[in-house]
Amino acid sequence: MLEESEARRRILSLVPVPTAVELPLEKSLGRYAARDLFATLALPPCPNSAMDGYALHVEDCGKAPHTVRIQGEQPAGPDRGLAVRPGGCVRIFTGAPLPADTAAVIMQEDTALFPDLAEVRILTAADPGEFIRAEGSDLCAGQKILNAGDRITPQRLSLLAGQGLTSLPCGRAPRVHVLTTGDELIPAGQPLTIRGCIHNSNGPMLQALAAQAGAESSTSHALDRLDILTDSIRRALENHDVLVLSGGVSVGDHDLVKPALESLGISLEFWRVRLKPGKPFLFTRHGGKLIFGLPGNPVSAFVTAVLFLLPALRRFAGASMELTAPPAARATLTMPVANKGDRPHYLRGVFDFPAGGFTPLGLQQSHATGALAAANALLRLEPDADEPAGSVHQVILF
Ligand code: AMP
Ligand code: MG
Repeated sequence: MLEESEARRRILSLVPVPTAVELPLEKSLGRYAARDLFATLALPPCPNSAMDGYALHVEDCGKAPHTVRIQGEQPAGPDRGLAVRPGGCVRIFTGAPLPADTAAVIMQEDTALFPDLAEVRILTAADPGEFIRAEGSDLCAGQKILNAGDRITPQRLSLLAGQGLTSLPCGRAPRVHVLTTGDELIPAGQPLTIRGCIHNSNGPMLQALAAQAGAESSTSHALDRLDILTDSIRRALENHDVLVLSGGVSVGDHDLVKPALESLGISLEFWRVRLKPGKPFLFTRHGGKLIFGLPGNPVSAFVTAVLFLLPALRRFAGASMELTAPPAARATLTMPVANKGDRPHYLRGVFDFPAGGFTPLGLQQSHATGALAAANALLRLEPDADEPAGSVHQVILF
């Protein structure tokens, strides 16, 4: 049986090299940059005012109280070509280009306007350089603004739009197909009229997880019949990059994923990971396509998706190696927990911001979705662990 870290390492080593597509900015949120990007424009592109106030000549700095004459007005927008002269000032607004010979901007709150609106009294002496945003003080032309593998966030979209870009090269989104298996499963929306049947909850969950990782996804369902499953797998592999199977990977007579893969001539990279929940997890690759076999129990499917599928999808979509890992935090256990088993056990629970406590939640069994739905973190307990309240651990956030 493989260790979790070794399983993830092997999967990531087999993810194909990301390919790039040029995406309009508005379609790139949540995607990953396909190459380094550099600023072509300095920001600010010319010196401008950080305040609403008055642009002063150097000779009028350091003087208060002191009166200067208003010689013109420069709003944010096209440069009016004004200059400040000793004893004078230019009325100026935030973001406005500085008139020639501006040494400082005195903010409006530190002045008093004369009733004739022609003169202004400086109440607090201005220091040279005050409230001036120098050209390039935010960004220099040529400066790196994005690394290949960075995730595109709203803040980064602001930076890219500020450079005048309308598109950027991103990693191509993986096309994922979620193939659920099981004779007992009925899609949501259809009544559960037969005793023993349950609704298919893994399909929507896995599609949603794939979408969060930046993938495009579709889904279908196969009954537990070797011919049906084999055919479904064959068809799904035709036009998808990643096949995610749910259920049928364990050792029961109705667990047909392995025989179906075998009948297609697909051998396994590995099967079974030393983990609870999620032991029967299976992974392989066929013709450059990735195949994940997730256990059917919803919590096992969720945990193995978080630990193995999502890192692979992020990598496929162009994430840097560091960003493939799930977000993590340090957490303090709010109650004692133990793992009597011989496999690492992932406990689901609540990580509370900002205190950083982790509280295990409800039934910790692999079918129990009630507690999973309310959880936002997983804590890995090593075999034979007996952890007291107050002990500090790393948790995975989702
Ligand atoms: P399996 O891995 O196919 O043996 O399934 C293990 C357990 O997970 C069984 O109780 C199944 O009914 C349940 N299960 C399998 N697939 C799903 C699914 N798509 N949605 C909800 N439960 C499932
Ligand atoms: Mg099954």
